[in-house]
Amino acid sequence: MSPIELNKRQEEILGIVKENGPITGEQIAERLHLTRSTLRPDLAILTMAGFLDARPRVGYFYSGKKTGQAVTDSMMNMKVRDFQSIPIVVTENMMVYDAICHMFLEDVGTLFVVDKNAYLTGALSRKDLLRTSLGNKELNKIPVHIIMTRMPNITYCFKHDSLIHAAKKLIDKQIDALPIVKEHPDGYEVIGRITKTNITGAFLSLAENHDL
Ligand code: ADP
Repeated sequence: MSPIELNKRQEEILGIVKENGPITGEQIAERLHLTRSTLRPDLAILTMAGFLDARPRVGYFYSGKKTGQAVTDSMMNMKVRDFQSIPIVVTENMMVYDAICHMFLEDVGTLFVVDKNAYLTGALSRKDLLRTSLGNKELNKIPVHIIMTRMPNITYCFKHDSLIHAAKKLIDKQIDALPIVKEHPDGYEVIGRITKTNITGAFLSLAENHDL
């Protein structure tokens, strides 16, 4: 079924009930300077479509169902900071072997690499580590800075960024995670992490209140 497009008056009714519900049809009509009978079809549509509930002798109240616009609005309002995970960082001189252990122990798919000032210098993915491990027995002798993807090629975001923008970066760059950074005069401090899992969680939260 295609989503229901509400007309202007129906949106107005929805707004009134959201603010003032429970409210009788008579009171809604008064606020809109219309008669009760003029409103009847709109109220019927809103009730049948599940936007409003009606109780005898109580009136109409908002059922919590979102319009297409409201869903889009809530998506645009989702911020990186509300869905982030803790970043797992390693230093540039850590050996590949230890980075692999770290990735398993911390149960993450991406490690971020920092220099001695704790500023972001690189990223290490599962495949970066796997690739190096293939046919290479000296994993204890290769520091991660040799194999990492390095600045300025790291894609990052800020905590106030919208989650949609972070999602777009993940898709455009075909990567699994972004560091959330804080800018300092001489580098970027890593303060969080956004992954495809976080985005999936946010997607799911749009359907909260529904039995899945
Ligand atoms: P995997 O390689 O395990 O599938 P990704 O798709 O995240 O994981 O990584 C692909 C490549 O992109 C890797 O070489 C990795 O170093 C690099 N990479 C990972 N995260 C970032 C990032 N935020 N910015 C730039 N490059 C990244």
